[in-house]
Amino acid sequence: MALHAVAYCERLFYLEEVEEIRIADERVLAGRILHETLPDDQPLTSYVLESELLGIRGKFDALKRQDGRFVVVEHKRGRSCKTADGNHDAWDSDRVQVVAYVLLLAEHLGLAADEIGAQVRYHANHRTVEVTVDEAAQVEFDRWMTRTRELRRGHQRPPPTTAANRCLSCSLAPVCLPEEERLARDPAWDTVRLFPADTDRLVVHVLEYGDRLSRSGERLTVWGRNGTKLADHPIEQIAQVVIHGAAQVTTQALALCMAKDVQVHFLSRGGRYLGATTAGSGGVQRRLRQYEALSQPALRLGLARRLVATKVRDQVRHLLRVARQEHRRSPLIDSAIKTIRSCIGRAERASESDELMGIEGEAGAAYWSAFPDLMLPEVDASWRPKGRSRRPPKDACNALLSFLYSLLYRDVVAAILAVGLEPSLGFHHRARSQAYPLAEDVMELFRVPLVDLPVVASLNRRQWTGEHVQDCGPGGWLLTEPGRRQAIRIYEERKAETWKHPVTGYSLSYARLIELEVRLLEKEYTGRPGLFAKRNLR
Ligand code: SF4
Repeated sequence: MALHAVAYCERLFYLEEVEEIRIADERVLAGRILHETLPDDQPLTSYVLESELLGIRGKFDALKRQDGRFVVVEHKRGRSCKTADGNHDAWDSDRVQVVAYVLLLAEHLGLAADEIGAQVRYHANHRTVEVTVDEAAQVEFDRWMTRTRELRRGHQRPPPTTAANRCLSCSLAPVCLPEEERLARDPAWDTVRLFPADTDRLVVHVLEYGDRLSRSGERLTVWGRNGTKLADHPIEQIAQVVIHGAAQVTTQALALCMAKDVQVHFLSRGGRYLGATTAGSGGVQRRLRQYEALSQPALRLGLARRLVATKVRDQVRHLLRVARQEHRRSPLIDSAIKTIRSCIGRAERASESDELMGIEGEAGAAYWSAFPDLMLPEVDASWRPKGRSRRPPKDACNALLSFLYSLLYRDVVAAILAVGLEPSLGFHHRARSQAYPLAEDVMELFRVPLVDLPVVASLNRRQWTGEHVQDCGPGGWLLTEPGRRQAIRIYEERKAETWKHPVTGYSLSYARLIELEVRLLEKEYTGRPGLFAKRNLR
C-alpha cells in the first residue's frame, strides 16, 4: 500500500506512512467492502509475505493457478487506465503494487519473477488487466523503493501532486489542503473545495450536577440525575464530549472515547477550561516543524501581525454594523471606530511583539468602551456590561461572554490537538496561566464572529432574563444551568452557520472554519505560507 501511495502522490505517502495520518472516508470504506464482498467466482485467499532482502511486507488480495502458473490478483474498486490507442492498462500506482507482490512471491517460491503472472481487476468497468513483471518493471520498483527511503528520512512534506485531479478522490485531501496550497502559490487558481463544508458529528455536553455519561457497547448514553436517558448516540456520531462542573463520566466511556479518538473536555461549573483527554503522542513531524518555524522571530511576528490585524478588523466591522443605522450611532461608537481603524495599519506594520500588543490593547479598550452601545435601549440594564471583566466576571453580560469564550477555547484546543500541533507553543500570546498560548492565539480570529456577535444579537432579542444568571458574590457572576444550556444552544447554532471564505471562495460552517484555520496555520510551518488568518467578518 505504501508503494501504491508513493506512486500515486509522494505527499500522500508522506502523510500516511511518515506522519501516520489515515482517514477512512467513504471511498476507503467502499474499497474495504469490495474486498469483503467479492463474488464467489473470484479467488479470495489473501496472503501476507515479508522479505528482508526486498525490504517490504505485503498482503496481496488473491493468488490463483492459471495455465500451470501462479497468478497474483489485485482487486481495485475504480476503473482501469485508458491508453491513447483505446486499450485498457493498469495505473502506475497499481502496477508497482502488484509488481511488489510478484517479487515477494517469487522470492518465497524460489521462482523467477517472470514465471509468475500478475493481474489487476478493475471492478468499476469490469476489466482485468495483465501486468508484465519484466526488467523494466523491476527497475521501476527499485526506483520507488529508493524514493520511499528518502522521503522517510525527511521532516518536510513533499508538495502536492501536479496531477490535481488525483486529489478529487484522495481521502487525505481535508488534511493535505492541496487546493489551498495551489491558491497560495497562484492567486488566480480556481479552487475546488475538498475540505468538508460541515461536520455531521455532534458535540455531547454533560451539563448538570448528577448527570452521567456511560458506555453501552459502541454507544454513549447521557443519564440524568433521576435515571432518565437524556441522550444516546453511536460513538461514530460523536466529535467531542464536554463534561461540565460536577457531571460524571465512567471509566468505560472514557476508554471508548480514547480508543475512537473522541476528545473529552472538562470545564468547571463557571465555564473555566480544565483540560482534555488526548489519544497519544501523534504528530511528531508536525510538532518538529512547529518548533523549527516558531524559533524564527520574523515568522512569529509575521503571523502575529496578521492575527491582530484580522481581529481588529473584525471588531471595527462589528461596530460599523450598528453605526450604519444612523439612529443607533453614538459618540462612543464613532470614536471607537476611528481609533480601531488607525490600529489596523499600525498592526500590519508593527516591528516588534510589544508594539503589536500595545496596538491590540488600544483597539480592545476602544471596542469594549463602545460595546454597551451595541445593545438596543430596550435591553434590561442588568444585562448591560460595565466594561470587560474576566476573572471573575463582574456582571451578567461578562458571565455570558466568559462562558462562551471558554466554549470557543475548547473548540480551538480540540482543533489544534486534532491537527497534531503543540498547543503550548504559540506565536503571539505568552505563557502566563494554564491556558495554552496557541489556543489563545487562534481563538482571536473567532471571538467576534462566534461570541460577541451572537451575544449582542441574543441580548437585543431579549433572550436573557434573571433566571439565566446569578451573582455569586466574590466568585463573580455565573450562568445558571438554564443559562448555560441556552448559551450552548446559541453557540452551537452559530457554529453551524455557513460563511464564504473570501480568499478560497468556498462556503463552510464556522465549526469547520476553526479546523481550516488551524490547518492553514500548520501550512505556515511547512514553508508553504500565505492563507492563515486571511479572512474578513461577514
Ligand atoms: S490531496 Fe492530492 S496532493 Fe494531497 S495527498 Fe492527496 S493526492 Fe496528494
